[in-house]
Formats: sequence, structure tokens, C-alpha cells
Amino acid sequence: MKHSLILLITILIISCVQKTDLHKDAHWSYEGETGPVHWGEIEKNSDCGGLFQSPLNIVNYKVDSLLTPLKITYSDSTHIHDIINNGHTIQYNFDSGDYITIEGVTYELKQFHFHEPAEHLIDGIRYPMVIHLVHKSENGTYAVLAVMAKEGKSSKPFDFLESFLPIPVGENRIVDSAFDMNLNLPDNRAYFTYSGSLTTPPCTENVQWFIFKNPITVSLSQVEKLKALMPLNNYRDEQSLNDREIKLSK
Ligand SMILES: [Zn+2]
Repeated sequence: MKHSLILLITILIISCVQKTDLHKDAHWSYEGETGPVHWGEIEKNSDCGGLFQSPLNIVNYKVDSLLTPLKITYSDSTHIHDIINNGHTIQYNFDSGDYITIEGVTYELKQFHFHEPAEHLIDGIRYPMVIHLVHKSENGTYAVLAVMAKEGKSSKPFDFLESFLPIPVGENRIVDSAFDMNLNLPDNRAYFTYSGSLTTPPCTENVQWFIFKNPITVSLSQVEKLKALMPLNNYRDEQSLNDREIKLSK
């Protein structure tokens, strides 16, 4: 009797601890009561309810012949430090060495991650996948490059990236392998650009977006392999353009 009472108390304590942990982790998600339309309420001090949010449906834009080609300086031997499955996406974290330059300011490539399907729409089209390459400047502002992927021929660089998968939710894996991020960029580098936000809480409004107009190609099985490890539909719906302009480079 005594033993079973102790066992019962132990079970109760363990289940309470688990519940507390679950509650702590259930801050935001891509569905239901913690889904995108509720992010502004859940994340009190965030910008999620702001006027300059991302993503957008890129429909109304102007070609701006003054926009220069993107100055992308990606080394062919920068190391992917580790890969994490944070429960929202699969993210590859980089060692320093890759960067882009915008109007004389250096933005270092910190990480890239995936959304399936893509977040920004181009002329109303939602691609099956997007890679977001997140760059950060010394003063904390972001520049994110978005590379759309369509289904087609399989991609060798993707085979390499996916060779480290699967990774269970909440775990990370040290990789320490050289990777040339240039291999995941489209040949034609025409891009849309505008000022917006991070597309996940806290939805911070200090992001300059650069969305390549042309997609790269990956195979259906490459899309499916990543999809199986991420929440279904890990994208945020289009936000209002409000008082902003989208420009297209030549
Ligand atoms: Zn993203």
C-alpha cells in the first residue's frame, strides 16, 4: 500500500513537470490557437501586429534600373557549423566567412532555413519550398535572401545538405563541413526588394528582403525529405503592403 502511494505521488509529480515543460514550449506554432493570426496576442512585446510585416504577395512592383546587382561574397569553403531542428524549421548555422554588402554595409550570413510551402508569393504563385538566408549587420539589422525552389531535376547541393538528416525536434548536430552556398542560388540574380519583418515571432521590423525572381530546382523526394521533419505548412500568410513599395532589379 505504502509503495503504491509513493508510486502514485511520483507519477503525479512527473506528469506535473511534463505539463509545465509543455506549456513553456507551446508559445507559438503554425496552427490553431497558437497559429500565425494569434502571434500578436501571444508575443506581447513583438512587432507581429505591425504595419510593415512580411511576407507579401509580390504583385504590384516597379522595375528600378538604379538597383545594382547584389554583392554576394560567399566562399566555397565556409563551414556549416551545425544543424538544428527547432520545431519550427530545419536550420543550418554557418561559421563566419560568407557575407553580402548593401550600400557599403556588411551583412554576415548567420543561417539558412526552410519553409514548405514558400512564404512570399510571386504574382500570386506559391512555390513548394523557399530557402531563407538570414544575414545580420553589426548594428543588428537583417538582410534576408529568399530562394524559391520548384519541383524538377534533383539538386546535388541538396543531396549534401540532406545527408545530415533526419534530426529529431529539439536536437542539433555538429556538422563542421565546408559548403558553397553559391550552389543554391539561381543563375539569374534578378530580385525583388522591400522593407519588412522577420516572418516568425517576434516579427521584428528591421529586415530588408531580397527575393530572387527565378527559382532553383529540387526533386520531389528532396522536398518531401525536409517536409517530413518540419511542421506541416510552416509558413505565415501574406501581410498587408500598407505604405511600402516593392522594387524589381533589372
Ligand atoms: Zn524564414
